[in-house]
Order: sequence, then C-alpha cells, then structure tokens
Amino acid sequence: MATRIPLISGNWKMHHNHFEALATVQKLSYLLGDDRNGRVEVSIHAPFTDLRSLQTSIEQDDMDISLGAQHCHWEDKGAFTGEVSPAMLAKLNVRYVIAGHSERREVFGETDEWVNNKVLAILRHGMTPILCCGETLDEREGDRTEDKVAGQVRAGLAGVSPEQVGALVLAYEPIWAIGTGRTATADDAQATCALVRGTVAEVAGAEAAAAVRVQYGGSVKPANAAELMGQPDIDGALVGGASLDADDFAKIVRGIDA
Ligand code: PEP
Repeated sequence: MATRIPLISGNWKMHHNHFEALATVQKLSYLLGDDRNGRVEVSIHAPFTDLRSLQTSIEQDDMDISLGAQHCHWEDKGAFTGEVSPAMLAKLNVRYVIAGHSERREVFGETDEWVNNKVLAILRHGMTPILCCGETLDEREGDRTEDKVAGQVRAGLAGVSPEQVGALVLAYEPIWAIGTGRTATADDAQATCALVRGTVAEVAGAEAAAAVRVQYGGSVKPANAAELMGQPDIDGALVGGASLDADDFAKIVRGIDA
C-alpha cells in the first residue's frame, strides 16, 4: 500500500500583491517551522505577479513550502495575449499547478479538453498538476454528482500514463461549498473522494489509484480541517479563503482546531 503524504495547498485566487504575498509566506514559514519531517507538504498558489518574489524568498530562506500556480496555458509560447506558459512556470521552479478549478471552468469557459491539454503540458514540463473536479448544487440535488465528477476525472486524465497518474494530485471541490462557508460533511466528502479514487483505478489501474493524492476543497477552515483530512480517501486540502491568513492556514496545516 502506497504511503500518501498529505498535500495542503493554499489557493490565493486574485488576492495578495507581491508585498502582501512575501509577508504572508514569511509569516507562514515562521509559524510552521521546519519540524514537519515529511509528514505533510504545503504549497502556495499565488497570482502570477507574485511568483518571482516568492520563488526568491522561498529559495533564499530554504522554506519548506512549494511554489504553486493557479493556471497556465498548454502551449510553450505563441500569440496568446494575457496567458502564461507552463515553460515560464517551470523556469520559476513552480512545483504544483492547479488545472480546471471550477472558477476557471465557470467564469472563463475552460472545457474538459482544455483542462486535459493543461494537465499534459504541466507534466511535460516536470511539474505536478492538481486536477480539480466537482459538482454544482443542482447536479448534487439531481443525483448527478457521480457522472459529473467521474466524467471530469476521466477527461482530465486522458493520455496520461498510469505512472504519471499515480504521482499527480486530484482535488474534489463541490462547487456549492467553494467560498460559501458551506462544507460537505466528512462522510460525503469521503464518499466522493473514494469515487474519485475508484475512477482513477478504472482508467489507470489499482497501483495508480493507491498512490494518487486526493484533496478535498470547499470552505476548509481550522475548525473542520482535521475531521475532513482524517478520512481514509482524503489526502490533504485545497484551501481558498482561509489560506490568505497565515495564522489560519498554519492552524489547518497543523490540524489545530481554532
Ligand atoms: C478554492 O479556492 O479552491 C476553495 C476551495 O476556496 P474556499 O476554501 O474559500 O472555499
């Protein structure tokens, strides 16, 4: 049975300029210290304009925090005004890149095909995708959670080898729980994360399914993090709002109930 080291990722969305980003990461690193001993990994997914400053600070101070991005294009270069390429992120030593966050799917019209292109491009540049999936409230109430989530997982992993699948991260994020203060119950989150893992087993085999890390995301806070992350198929969290504050995020990482 593979050992899965939980990954707790802070998605800052469009918050924190580079000054605020530096202050937040330095405080987080101070609060977390370096006694995690490989028990839990932490990544920060900052806006593009913060990445170079954060890279310098993380590397200079040898912080035990991985640099993450929230999005990228799938081409290495070209006429794609406003976009950032995976090659550019890799050059900054970005380790994890979120692909298919529901806000990008819903607000910017990202399709399953684009998300799959991004997953493949992120892997091609030696980084790890965090592939997001999740259902709307309508889909949940209409009993369509399974179809939606399994469909997104299958589409996102098309063309990815079983070895690569085992090394990547999936994030189950019920859309109705993102930024709303509503959280899935630990039982519901566990059931859908188990469904995600089962879908990975179907497309990439049992070994990949045992190794892949599945995060839960959706209003994770210090008060609910430990119970959610204590579920057998949940290997960490993708945290939005509560990751903006170093004190709250550190409490989540340490599993301390506020
Ligand atoms: C997210 O940004 O992916 C997220 C889950 O946000 P929040 O924790 O604020 O719900």
